[in-house]
Amino acid sequence: SKNAGRNCFHIYSADLKAEADQRNVLEIELREAIWREEIEVFYQPVIELGTGRVKSVEALARWRHGTRGFIPPVEFIAVAETGGLIVELGEQVLAKACRDAMTMPDDVKVAVNLSALQFAGTNLVDTVTFALAQSGLPQTRLELEITESVFLADTQENLKTLQRLKALGVSIALDDFGVGYSSLSYLTAFPFDKVKIDKSFIDRIDRSETVAVLKSIVQLAKTLKLSIVAEGVETSEQVSQLQSLGIALGQGFYFSKPVPLADLSWQGHTARRR
Ligand code: C2E
Ligand code: CA
Ligand code: CA
Ligand code: CA
Repeated sequence: SKNAGRNCFHIYSADLKAEADQRNVLEIELREAIWREEIEVFYQPVIELGTGRVKSVEALARWRHGTRGFIPPVEFIAVAETGGLIVELGEQVLAKACRDAMTMPDDVKVAVNLSALQFAGTNLVDTVTFALAQSGLPQTRLELEITESVFLADTQENLKTLQRLKALGVSIALDDFGVGYSSLSYLTAFPFDKVKIDKSFIDRIDRSETVAVLKSIVQLAKTLKLSIVAEGVETSEQVSQLQSLGIALGQGFYFSKPVPLADLSWQGHTARRR
């Protein structure tokens, strides 16, 4: 009936409104948390499969909400992006990661995720230059992780920024490789140093189709002189499969979850003198 339709609409719009309100509250709280510099940074090691050594660590933002507990980055990064907070958040994570890296062994790099929105409008090159200068971290120890989304908007401008970042001497990794639709073309669009193969491939590494795809990625990476990291490694079987494919680096819960700086372990590394 007409009435039922009406009710339906009301329920629907009330739901939407509740959802929007909740999002606004979250955005306000996130703004405060960023302002108070409460966003924490955890680190997940990237392991050289052949030796078990830590080659780098990835910085991952963490927000411990006052009453709601831990809010996952997939939620608050999106809120930061729509709420115009991602630039400030990104700067804080970058600055903290560079400072923290100064307490890690010198042969370990730190990788920081960049949102595509950090490329627009602000001077990302200055931000990175400043974070390196402030912390004293050598540029060769910083790696920036970007996704294909950087190539979707303002392509020419973003490509120029990427080139200027690379000219600073930092390395650039293409993250979440394989989940976009024209991934292969992005690999040749820019001289990346590293490609991170998305977890979804590692999950399906026992299938022959996946093995075939990974083989061609390994081939291409060789040609382009890129190193490859397998993301989301959870089992020893996956480690063996990766090694037999010639993939040298892995990251995932099998080795370690992301942990606070103090919980990273540096077995086999020369301790950094403080
Ligand atoms: P990402 O860059 O692809 O980071 C890897 C994510 O996979 C992390 O989730 C990590 O905890 C998770 N992961 C690692 N190994 C495993 C595994 O073996 N199994 C499973 N199931 N998961 C694994 P996290 O920390 O929740 O971050 C999610 C995403 O949020 C990141 O994906 C990244 O896109 C974004 N993010 C996190 N921190 C930042 C940041 O500081 N800036 C920006 N722009 N994005 C960030
Ligand atoms: Ca990443
Ligand atoms: Ca990833
Ligand atoms: Ca991801």
